[in-house]
Amino acid sequence: MAANADGPLLFDARGAAEPEGGAADASGGYALVALEQGIDFAPDGLTYAVPGELADLAEGERVLVPLGKGDNLRPGHVVGRPGTTDRSGLKAVARRDPHGIALPSDLVALGRWMSAYYCAPLGMVFATMLPAAVKQGAGQRQRVLVALARAEEAEAAEDPDAPKGTGPAPERKRRLSKIQRRALDLLEERAAAGEPWIELHALADEAGARTPQPVRGLLRRGLLRQKREPVVRAADPLGEPDATGPPPEATEAQQRAVASIGAALGAGYSAHLLHGVTGSGKTEVYLRLIGQMRASASADDPPGAIVLVPEISLTPQTVGRFVGRFGDVAVLHSGLTSAQRHEQWRRIRDGTARIVVGARSAVFAPVRNLGLIVVDEEHEGSYKQEQLPRYHARDVAVKRAHLLGIPAVLGSATPSLESYHNATARSGEAEAEATPPRYRLHRLPERVAGMRMPEVEIVDLVEERRRRKGLHLISERLERVLAETIAGGGQALLLLNRRGYANYLACPDHRCGWQMLCDHCDAMMVYHKHETDAPSGYARCHHCTAEKALPKQCPACGKKVTVFGLGTQRVEEELSRKLPQARRGRMDADVMRTARDYRDLLDRFREKKFEILVGTQMIAKGLDIPNVRAVGVVSADTGLHMPDFRAEERTFQLVAQVAGRAGRLIGSSGGPAGRVIVQSLQPHNPAIELASGHDYEGFAERELGVRRDAGLPPYARMSRIVVRDPDAEQCRARGETLRAELDAAAERAGVADRVRIVGPAPCPIARIADHHRHQIELTSPTAGLIQRVLADARNRGLLRSDARTAVDVDPVSLL
Ligand code: ADP
Ligand code: ZN
Ligand code: ZN
Repeated sequence: MAANADGPLLFDARGAAEPEGGAADASGGYALVALEQGIDFAPDGLTYAVPGELADLAEGERVLVPLGKGDNLRPGHVVGRPGTTDRSGLKAVARRDPHGIALPSDLVALGRWMSAYYCAPLGMVFATMLPAAVKQGAGQRQRVLVALARAEEAEAAEDPDAPKGTGPAPERKRRLSKIQRRALDLLEERAAAGEPWIELHALADEAGARTPQPVRGLLRRGLLRQKREPVVRAADPLGEPDATGPPPEATEAQQRAVASIGAALGAGYSAHLLHGVTGSGKTEVYLRLIGQMRASASADDPPGAIVLVPEISLTPQTVGRFVGRFGDVAVLHSGLTSAQRHEQWRRIRDGTARIVVGARSAVFAPVRNLGLIVVDEEHEGSYKQEQLPRYHARDVAVKRAHLLGIPAVLGSATPSLESYHNATARSGEAEAEATPPRYRLHRLPERVAGMRMPEVEIVDLVEERRRRKGLHLISERLERVLAETIAGGGQALLLLNRRGYANYLACPDHRCGWQMLCDHCDAMMVYHKHETDAPSGYARCHHCTAEKALPKQCPACGKKVTVFGLGTQRVEEELSRKLPQARRGRMDADVMRTARDYRDLLDRFREKKFEILVGTQMIAKGLDIPNVRAVGVVSADTGLHMPDFRAEERTFQLVAQVAGRAGRLIGSSGGPAGRVIVQSLQPHNPAIELASGHDYEGFAERELGVRRDAGLPPYARMSRIVVRDPDAEQCRARGETLRAELDAAAERAGVADRVRIVGPAPCPIARIADHHRHQIELTSPTAGLIQRVLADARNRGLLRSDARTAVDVDPVSLL
């Protein structure tokens, strides 16, 4: 770890260090401050004196406090206001955040829970709750507001032209221009209407002036008073409202879901799982629930809602549907400029916008009068943040709803087994301490308005290879379906969840055994072609940033290196040979660098600028494009052999979700259903077969049985600790020490017999970016038991989440 001059190591663990030159002013009492940089050994915050002028400092407010030897000012949040302290020689809070940022009390409470549950420093959790753009004040300007001066101010004004003592306005107006008189009249009208203030430029405009000069003249004469106010200026990111007219008539299933979830609105906490097949109109259910919540509420303080969607589904279409239905929508996603993000956040905080549609971190939006939280595509792994604090936005959403006493709705066509289990487990199986409360299950078993589920065919690639010479990523069957679809004016998606050109670069001679490994990671490199038409390429590591030239010959024995395996680039190349008539687009992390790239490509696809979209799992997520009539899965097996107990679940989700993109033309009941071709080397794998049969329940029952037998989530809870170190021996030694501490902590907590601790052992990828990695896994029947172990170790300073040690509670990635 890089030494950090202001890091926790340099100062006194009992609190802020002695200031030089006597005690600080504490006439405003004391404050516990959680620093944003995260100081894990002081979980309750550091104690500071509060000077008299900050006596009204409240919990949640962001402040700047001196820290370390240099007394550099650092941001933090007030988490307590004790009246007394037994500490002496405290430093004082320097000042409030210059932008007046504060976290509302419900977020402070949520932050405390997150800090404890996810083993993350409290201040760092608060820092995560606030967008960086907000903390930096991005796009902030001062605007000048003016109003009529009060009579006495006008008289006292130093204006040589003003006739002294001749009474107020009428006399003075004579010397003014027409525009200036109009401006004064306008202000009088506003004052009479009880809205005296108007922006200086706006007044000049309304009075018919081309410049602000005439209004400035009025200010100089003392006829107006002015005040300055911070505003954030940014282009409107909301885009066009969806123009498809009035809301569709709800299907019977939609009505039932809205009625049963709707009954829980305003009636305290409840959690709901909306299991609706692809194209069943889940979004319409969310929209109606929000509408219903508002219909019965006061118009002055309408209840708000947060709708979380995966980053990738935050298309203008999704946002447009909300903007079309509600006037006060804000969006939060990574495609915004920082000024836009700041502005959206301010609109939410001020109560101007109360419906928030956003990605992961929008779960922290400071919505006024929050009445409902929705998590769409709740099974998505991207809701898990893989950096400190390692939280899962779905679970945080449920917790926030719980703390606020409001409903949470989780929606998916392929619910995570955790959520499905929560919604279906009979009470006999209930674990005494289960933290997630039971969910209520609602189903949308059919597609809307006569749309049929697509017809899925599985193509056996073993069979195909036996019959056909050469390497073919696209089977004859898939090729024919694609050709027919395009000939009929349709569009198609082609999924291969692997980017690059080929992922296996090795010596053809097994006895030699050379493979092209990354110099910095224990992983094979992937061959990429240059994005231009150049025939050459290079090898790239997908775990670090390393790139290397591909040797022509095996460095060990001199034989010609084999380039083997699949990748999206290779699919694209094969398409250009097999279906030259089709225009193509590609979507994967190599070509999609920003949210903008992604939206632009999808817009072009929607506008039918090309016929076939090739891509990784990105294309499987939530796309609702009616002209997509065919979907091909190039290799359904790519994820099956991952060293991860969720490999089958992910494969099921991916195949079912991408299949669900086909045949979404509404009112197509008479026409053919969408067509899906799933290619696989294991056509009888249950995940693939059941996904092809649209049989979620069948898959869930089966897989839950496997998990129960193996004692894996959702029948157990898991935490994983990864120790990283540049030195292999150090890494192992630190892992061993930590293991011993955890064993002792489990003993002390009296749970040693119920928490299973395994490791340290090398991670599946044992080295990444020159750091060796060892893992320790903790499993137990309930989350609470693991929490007791982690809390004990943490409170004693034996376990700390930092750059060298990653504590991952409820891990999603196990590599
Ligand atoms: P899901 O998220 O369940 O896959 P969406 O909410 O995206 O489904 O809805 C799919 C399509 O069906 C959308 O274009 C939506 O406008 C439309 N839709 C939703 N409900 C209805 C309905 N009751 N009647 C007709 N069309 C509907
Ligand atoms: Zn690497
Ligand atoms: Zn060799």
